[in-house]
Amino acid sequence: MYLLAPACEAIARTTKKLEKTQIVADYLRARSADEAAASAVFLSGRPFPTYDEATLGVGGTHLWRAMKELSGKTDAVLTAAYRRHGDLGAAACDILSATHQEPPPQPLNVLQVEQAFRQIANTRGTAAKLKLVSDLLAQATPLETKYLVKIMTGDLRIGMKESLVEEGIAKAYGRDVRAVQRANMMLGDIGETCRLAIADRLAEARMRLFHPIGFMLASPVQSAEEAFSFFQHAQVEDKYDGIRAQAHCREGEVRLFSRTLDEVTGSFPELAEALAQFSGEVILDGEIVAWNRAEPNVESHALPFSELQKRLGRKTVTETMKRAVPVAYMAFDVLYANGKLVIDQPLRRRAAILDGIFSRARRPALVRTANAQGRLTFEPAVQAETQASAEVIRAPVLRADSPAHLDELFAAAQARGNEGLMIKDVESPYTPGRRGQSWVKLKRELARLDVVVTSVEYGHGKRASVLSDYTFAVRDGDRLVNIGKAYSGLTDKEIAAMTEWFLAHTLADHGFWREVEPKIVLEVAFNAVMRSDRHESGYALRFPRILRLRDDKPPEEADNIERVRGIYARQHGKNRESGVGSRESPNTSKNRP
Ligand code: AMP
Repeated sequence: MYLLAPACEAIARTTKKLEKTQIVADYLRARSADEAAASAVFLSGRPFPTYDEATLGVGGTHLWRAMKELSGKTDAVLTAAYRRHGDLGAAACDILSATHQEPPPQPLNVLQVEQAFRQIANTRGTAAKLKLVSDLLAQATPLETKYLVKIMTGDLRIGMKESLVEEGIAKAYGRDVRAVQRANMMLGDIGETCRLAIADRLAEARMRLFHPIGFMLASPVQSAEEAFSFFQHAQVEDKYDGIRAQAHCREGEVRLFSRTLDEVTGSFPELAEALAQFSGEVILDGEIVAWNRAEPNVESHALPFSELQKRLGRKTVTETMKRAVPVAYMAFDVLYANGKLVIDQPLRRRAAILDGIFSRARRPALVRTANAQGRLTFEPAVQAETQASAEVIRAPVLRADSPAHLDELFAAAQARGNEGLMIKDVESPYTPGRRGQSWVKLKRELARLDVVVTSVEYGHGKRASVLSDYTFAVRDGDRLVNIGKAYSGLTDKEIAAMTEWFLAHTLADHGFWREVEPKIVLEVAFNAVMRSDRHESGYALRFPRILRLRDDKPPEEADNIERVRGIYARQHGKNRESGVGSRESPNTSKNRP
């Protein structure tokens, strides 16, 4: 870590992107190829390249224990330091700098660190891993420990992203940044990319499947008019309320990656099986949704996220669970097919390629659009051989030619139980990891509630010293019952003022969190109400955001649990009583299993 840690400090000190990439470039250029490759990985904030399957298996708790051992300090001292910095690495550096220790005899080299990380990943058992972590940290200076801990927790917090490392590499060796980005995307290994850049062999990078590529993101729009202002020819799709997933398929081998670039195949084994129907190599982009099987007279459709949630966060998926919450994969884009990366092709072309992939699938599962009002017919259906099989569906594509038309499609999408619409420029390329105006999303919040803050917590990062996370409640008779937690929406100034107020009006101090006098009313917006055991109310809000402080409202006038029940019932009942997915369209279900 000799020189890497000071380079990281310098990167953290400037907010200017150009200066950050210059520091990276200068640092890399002065290293051997091996050191540069290892450092490129560390600078992107991770111990191993994305493509690599190794994981350290060392969590925050382990590192906390190692820190305690190394510094000989108590939990209270560590907690105080953590609260000051909002980051375990910085807290470690702070504490270790204050305890007088002999400086290590030899400076720690990045290659030694790379080797130590491998050894930790290959070692089984917490105690044995911990021993290796402690040995590594014992050889480091406090500043090096700071960055070792940050890399091990996977977050440098120095305003450095992998895209800046790519720019740094391009600058260091005088290569075209697009060539560096492309090689890194195909390889999923910034270290390997760095080596190719050094040797001027970036063009030799070949696509490797089974490592996630960044997801293209959408910008929100408020109205159909606004959506229409961005481009002339729009492809319109329902906005499904599930989880985004990239599917990598190669002759029966399938892996799914989430938007956070984590592998989620294990949570959806039947989807992996269903996706194995594609021949050749493909990478698809789509959404995993909970899916209701066709019942007599009711068309199949996606279910609210609350259904899918029942399957999340479980280590194993039982047959019962698979049957209770069937899932479907709504594929809406393709990134790689027939040996070619197709992200640079316009959506128009990619859509045709995707249609082709579906028509050649061994168990074709097509969904077609029917009429301009957004009424959909599903054909032909996937044969459900067992109850627990999953569906793979080509997400229906609609077209809109005016804002009024888009409004109609929006109503139809919501009537099908979906969140709203995604409107996409047919001429746009797929831009991994970027949010632009080529994809826009139109959704409307479900409702707003006035809620009362009952407890507060310290935030993370730059909010580690302020009370910025609020748990809030609605009224239930003369009691207050918690219903959610939010930490976004207020300005820093408002948070600072609220922190002062909460500190002065604490009922019980539990260290990290405080019960506070229930006096503060917030207006929150959210996307859905879910049933939940987490809160006393029996409900939880999905994506709550604080809209404003309602200092004009006393807590006695906050919303009550009846209102929540009403919203929940409306969301689960009324949505489907009219419109497309209803009993008014019996014909559409006849092709379903
Ligand atoms: P949001 O999470 O509100 O920022 O909306 C973006 C997310 O909508 C994406 O990351 C996807 O998970 C999801 N989504 C649902 N349907 C689609 C679709 N047809 N096209 C693209 N994204 C979709």
